[in-house]
Amino acid sequence: MASITLNKLNKHYGSLHHAVKDVDLTIADKEFVALVGPSGCGKSTTLRMIAGLEDISSGEIRIGDRVVNNLPPRDRDVAMVFQNYALYQHMSVYDNLAFGLRNKKVPESEIKAAIDRAAEMLGLHELLKRRPRQLSGGQQQRVALGRCIVRNPLVFLFDEPLSNLDAKLRAQMRIEIKRLHSQMPTTSVFVTHDQVEAMTLGDRVVIMRDGEVQQAGTPLSVYGQP
Ligand code: ADP
Ligand code: ADP
Repeated sequence: MASITLNKLNKHYGSLHHAVKDVDLTIADKEFVALVGPSGCGKSTTLRMIAGLEDISSGEIRIGDRVVNNLPPRDRDVAMVFQNYALYQHMSVYDNLAFGLRNKKVPESEIKAAIDRAAEMLGLHELLKRRPRQLSGGQQQRVALGRCIVRNPLVFLFDEPLSNLDAKLRAQMRIEIKRLHSQMPTTSVFVTHDQVEAMTLGDRVVIMRDGEVQQAGTPLSVYGQP
């Protein structure tokens, strides 16, 4: 069970800059929420606070029935996909996929099984021996997704993961991400400034403005008739 609950969540940068203001939001278990809004409205900061990559200033974050405010990222059962893929350039795709599990001292046989499964889901088998620089942008983003899948997270956090891809690939990856979400028992939060992405991916769209939640609802109720 991994609902996400934000209670009066605030983030100040310094004394003047109030980046996230009293955000109250409940995301249901297995829901796919698209978090949208203009640049600088606080989307990424909110996502990074859920991941534990950014300290909160005040409020509460719950994942499932646990308050995670003071937990480090590795104890939150979240996996985050970044815009720039964040792959290790000097390692093969296989070793990139294995890295986090090796750190946790997971046995190699289990690591191999997890990588086989992720490679199957993402069509990565023929790429496992390559280095990231020998991959296209779309392939690199699939590896980044694979690195999240092998962690078996309860929550997927996406920070504009498709922004560096061309339009055709973006459309393909949207379908792929939606399929992955439906195949795994995960709750997903997807930050984007792209309305098409928000409409096609989100069960619900949450619009932020100036650090606050301005509106939330189904894509149809937020954006009107298609
Ligand atoms: P978005 O993801 O919606 O574009 P962000 O969450 O990145 O917005 O940023 C929200 C606000 O907080 C912006 O005004 C941004 O400039 C500011 N901000 C983000 N990170 C920092 C930081 N490390 N230090 C100071 N201000 C920051
Ligand atoms: P570990 O297996 O010890 O978690 P990693 O090197 O994979 O080691 O990760 C280092 C830190 O970054 C850990 O706290 C981990 O939970 C976190 N981390 C790694 N990958 C991700 C990811 N995709 N999303 C969110 N956090 C991550």
